[in-house]
Amino acid sequence: MIRKTVTCDRESCLALYLEPREPKDAQFEDMALEAGWVLQPAALALPGYPARPDVLAHLCPACAAGRGPVRERGACPTCSGTTEDLEAGSTCHYCRKVAPHLADEWC
Ligand SMILES: [Zn+2]
Ligand SMILES: [Zn+2]
Repeated sequence: MIRKTVTCDRESCLALYLEPREPKDAQFEDMALEAGWVLQPAALALPGYPARPDVLAHLCPACAAGRGPVRERGACPTCSGTTEDLEAGSTCHYCRKVAPHLADEWC
């Protein structure tokens, strides 16, 4: 199947947001925004950020929060960064997204 993706425009950031497998009514862009991605003209003055005011920039939740760039890919559902298992759930090293442990995950 073909799934939409959005990647972070920041230099050396590996962040990636994949369209969920289950079809949703929401637009992909809206889902990305809800996940914490920043989609806007590239007027951001971040180091390593391409200064192309004519281009719509995509900034991952980790970079948007000043915790990027994502340097290692893992299981984070919003930025594809690496996660660590904490009590609250699987927590992203980069954007701090917490994915609660699912009861049926171990079946
Ligand atoms: Zn990023
Ligand atoms: Zn993340």
